[in-house]
Parts: sequence; C-alpha cells; structure tokens
Amino acid sequence: MPAWAQMGVANPNLLGLNRGELERLAEDLGQARYRGRQLYRGLYGRRERDFSRLTDLDQKFREFLFAYYQVAYPEIRRVFVSQDGTARYLLGLADGKSVETVYMPEENRVTLCLSSQAGCAVNCRFCFTALLGLQRNLTAGEILGQVLAVAAAQHIPPRARLNLVLMGMGEPLLNLAQVMKAVQILADPQGLAVPLRRITMSTSGITPGIVELAREPLRPKLAVSLNASEEAQRTALMPINRKYPLRELLRVCRAYPLRPWERLTFEYVLLQDLNDSDADALRVADLLRGMRAKVNLIPYNGGPELPYRPSPFERTLAFQQILVDRHIPAFIRISRGQDVRAACGQLRLEGATNP
Ligand code: SAH
Ligand code: SF4
Repeated sequence: MPAWAQMGVANPNLLGLNRGELERLAEDLGQARYRGRQLYRGLYGRRERDFSRLTDLDQKFREFLFAYYQVAYPEIRRVFVSQDGTARYLLGLADGKSVETVYMPEENRVTLCLSSQAGCAVNCRFCFTALLGLQRNLTAGEILGQVLAVAAAQHIPPRARLNLVLMGMGEPLLNLAQVMKAVQILADPQGLAVPLRRITMSTSGITPGIVELAREPLRPKLAVSLNASEEAQRTALMPINRKYPLRELLRVCRAYPLRPWERLTFEYVLLQDLNDSDADALRVADLLRGMRAKVNLIPYNGGPELPYRPSPFERTLAFQQILVDRHIPAFIRISRGQDVRAACGQLRLEGATNP
C-alpha cells in the first residue's frame, strides 16, 4: 500500500502526468511500461476519467489505480452563459482556488480560452485579472484539466475541431514549464490531439520567456500584447514595459523563428484617447515594418472598476485602415461574452451577472 494511503491523504490525481511519467508509474506498480502508454491514451486520447472504462488495462492494474489514484477534472462551480453563446466557466481547483475558462462556439469550430495562472502579477492597468494579483501558478494538470472539464460539459467529442488560446487569466510565459508540459499533452496525436497551429499563447511581452519559447522544438503560436506605440505610453499602460522595454521586445520578436506557415500576432487593445490616434497607428506600422506579422485590434472591455473607455468604432476602423494601407494585416476582434464579463481582460471571478 502506498504511503499516502495510510496517511489518509486524498488519492493523487493522475491528470497532468505525461507519457513517460505514466510509464514509470506502471513500472513502479509492477506492470509493463506499455501499460502506462495505454493509460495515457485512455486519459487524454479517449478522455476517460473512470478507471473501469479503461478496459484495455490489466484488471489488477485497474483495481490498483482505482484504490490509490484518481482522475479529477477541475470542478465546475458556476457557468455564465452569454447571449452570443459564449460561456464563462468558473472552475474550482483542489486547493479551493478558482480559475476561469471561456467557451466560444463558432459556426464550425469551438475555441476555448484557457488560464495559465490564478490571477496575474503583471499589473496591466486596463486588465481586470490584474486586480486579483498573482495567487499561484497552475499545474500542467490544471491547464489541460480546463479543456477536459469544459469539453465534457459541452459534450465536445474527442476528435472535434478545437482551437485553444492561452489568453485567459495569467501570463503563460511566467509559468512556462507547466504550460509547455500541458501543451505537449494537448498537441500530442495520442493525447488530446489539438494541432499546435490551433494553439496560441499570448504574452504581455516577457522577453526572456519569448527567447526560451523560441528554443522549444514543439511550440504553439505566439501572440504578443503590444498595446502601445511608444515606450512611455506602454509603460503607463503596462508597467512591465519598464523591465522589458518595447525596443528590446521588438528586437526579440524580429529574431523569433517563425515556421513557414506562421505569422507573429500582435494584440492591441484600443483605449479611447490613450493609444488610438492616427499617429499611434503610423508608429505601430513603423515598428512592425518588414515583419511577418498581423495585428489583432481588440476593443476595450470595460467595467466599473477601471476608468478606461473603448475607442469609437470609426476610430477603430481608421486605425485598422492605416495598418492595412501599409501592408500590415489587421483584424478587428469581435468582443464575445461581454454581457457575462467573459471577454478579454474581464476575467476576475466575481462581479458577474448571471442572466
Ligand atoms: N497575459 C497574457 C494573456 C492574457 S490577457 C497577455 O497579456 O497577453 C489576453 C489579452 O487581453 C491581452 O492581449 C490583453 O492586452 C487583453 N486585455 C486585457 N485587458 C483587457 C480589456 N479590459 N479589454 C480588452 N482586452 C484586454
Ligand atoms: Fe496579466 Fe495579461 Fe492581464 Fe496583463 S493583460 S495583467 S499580463 S492577464
């Protein structure tokens, strides 16, 4: 009997263990290594969470797993459903903390917006998650558990087309080891089988993290939150710019090794009279000149706690036109789930109205 079982501690959760770790676990329990691979395919490929359904496993092994381990998805505490079909899930973790995951259905696909941390330490002025501060990093199991929990709740079958964006709570590059461990299981054809080109990680511009990510053999797409066109302006909106200045950020972005099919995405939240002028757009075009890049213009999503206003739509269009005229693809993101505070930057657990 394992030591924890005698100590009255909850059975350890297998979620988050990768193939190698499950192979070792099988071996430690006196099984062949390939039993670990079977377990891996069952947990992630077929998304089983009930040991009794892992019928390809040796019966003794199954009974042992049942007695001493568990497969626990984050618990769905609340769901806020928007008029546009977006659903914001409040998920409870084993230690009582919560994170949010957003489900966004589109015509022929589904996008899930995942959190990488509970809260965030980066402190961007316009972001509601920043108001929480950093509570803690999420584990790989908690990151991919968000996909499993929401996919189960929404009855998304294992082979359905999924897009994943790490754009929920938290700064993924400040929790890179756990994020990458999760991404490897998510992208693995025998795991959750979401192709890497359908996974995007968004960063506020943690330059050393971008350099580290560039060295990963298997990496998701990268989006960088630019949000300003000059150093002082960016520092005012994103104090992290003092530590990782715009100039250095763009240098690292220019050196970033893009795959042949890939463009670097820059996100730009448009705040009325703060970063949305023609002069800003011209400067952004200059900053990005010659890069294989595109810009996603994000309308600011507000709330009573913060003083900012969204740019008027005509301003947003004018900003976009200046970029497009300078051969920089620029898209206006439709804001989703605003009525339930599920839109970009609005995730902060409470303060929601459930229609
Ligand atoms: N921490 C990462 C990813 C999560 S934030 C990052 O900052 O990139 C995801 C996106 O939401 C970022 O581009 C951020 O600039 C944007 N955002 C934050 N607050 C927002 C708000 N109130 N309205 C619209 N977008 C916001
Ligand atoms: Fe953190 Fe991103 Fe919000 Fe900035 S915008 S505080 S980095 S979650």
